[in-house]
Amino acid sequence: MKGLVKRRLIVLGSTGSIGTNTLDVVSHLRREGLFEFDVVGLAAGRNGALVAEQASAFSVSHVALADSQQAAALPKSCKVYTGPDAPQALIEAVAEPGDLVVGAIVGSAGLPATMAAINRGCDVALANKETLVAAGSLVMPLVREKQVQLLPIDSEHSALFQCVQAGRSLDEVKRLIITASGGPFRQATREQTDSATVEQALDHPTWKMGRKVTIDSATLMNKALEIIEAHWLFDMPADKIEAVIHPQSMIHSFVEFIDNSVIAQLGPPDMRTPIQYTLTYPNRLLGNSRAMDWATIGQMDFEQIDRERFGSINLAYDVIRQGGSSGAVFNAANEVAVEAFLSGRIRFGQITQLVADAMQQLPVKPIEDLADCLKADQEARDVVNQHLEVAAATH
Ligand code: NDP
Repeated sequence: MKGLVKRRLIVLGSTGSIGTNTLDVVSHLRREGLFEFDVVGLAAGRNGALVAEQASAFSVSHVALADSQQAAALPKSCKVYTGPDAPQALIEAVAEPGDLVVGAIVGSAGLPATMAAINRGCDVALANKETLVAAGSLVMPLVREKQVQLLPIDSEHSALFQCVQAGRSLDEVKRLIITASGGPFRQATREQTDSATVEQALDHPTWKMGRKVTIDSATLMNKALEIIEAHWLFDMPADKIEAVIHPQSMIHSFVEFIDNSVIAQLGPPDMRTPIQYTLTYPNRLLGNSRAMDWATIGQMDFEQIDRERFGSINLAYDVIRQGGSSGAVFNAANEVAVEAFLSGRIRFGQITQLVADAMQQLPVKPIEDLADCLKADQEARDVVNQHLEVAAATH
């Protein structure tokens, strides 16, 4: 790459695991004189103190904070947006065509702002997989219409994205194979998993992540979400997407081509690698993430996923086959169920059942626009909340 490149950047979800890693990579690239980002906007949920610190450190002019009560700490020089629509308001006020927007808000709360960014003609580096699961049928056509780039941050999809480029077209791809660590309950019995504590479920063997995605990794809902995410990103039917357990989390995914050649992408479990690739794409620059230590890797193992114990995987294929509102329902039901588990209202084993029940109860409807999608999301939340109330009343 010749000369120092400058680009405007907005980080949605800047206070989370992906958001802080993103700003760490931005600082590293600036320190090394490799790439200069002008961070023009940050969005967060409740962590006013951290987003205030970030706004000062990166001289950010516009900040969105969902919780207005936490906004007092923000620098006086910042234009501040608050409330549930704050990330979208930030995008509408600040984003310009050609900007890069990192989508790292957790859950479908990130969807409206991501769609607004694409509408503005921004490229999007997407960690927020829930956006594609809930609204892939809206997001992907919009990406094509606006001719922007949608670059996956998720390590598995970053791997698939890099491997797919080894072929000449998607027609040459036989299968996408997504790897899964298996989470903390890979070797547990159904009884042990069913009654697992929050602490046990948050104890992920290989990745350090936010609480919601860590619980999703324990139920393998995360893999289910990723199967659906891959379906949308790579326009692949359900029968061409598989998931396999690889406990070491070194191979981030494989692509098998029609000539039976398989290409994999490897690296230690460190999100700064895929994040940096989206920030500097298509260039590869000196990284600050962990490097592979081949001397200590030892062996790499692979196992089939036990779909009896991890029913979430079957639900992912149902979502792809059903289409319409099923992705929004699946995702929102899971968000409510995870929150209920984290707050001690349900057992770990009930999470997947609540999602399956919501999918069964709500008919699949067509999704024409964002309003349809948000309606399906709300209906799923209401259904799961009703189930939770009934369960609470009968105990
Ligand atoms: P965290 O829980 O660590 O962070 C979530 C971020 O979203 C925080 O900045 C939080 O703000 C913000 N947020 C939550 N609700 C709102 C809201 N209503 N409006 C604005 N901001 C909000 O999650 P992660 O960083 O772990 O994950 C983020 C996304 O990336 C998820 O979709 C996850 O599945 C995906 N992902 C994460 C990976 C990881 O390694 N962590 C790997 C691959 C994908 P605050 O903290 O201030 O409340």
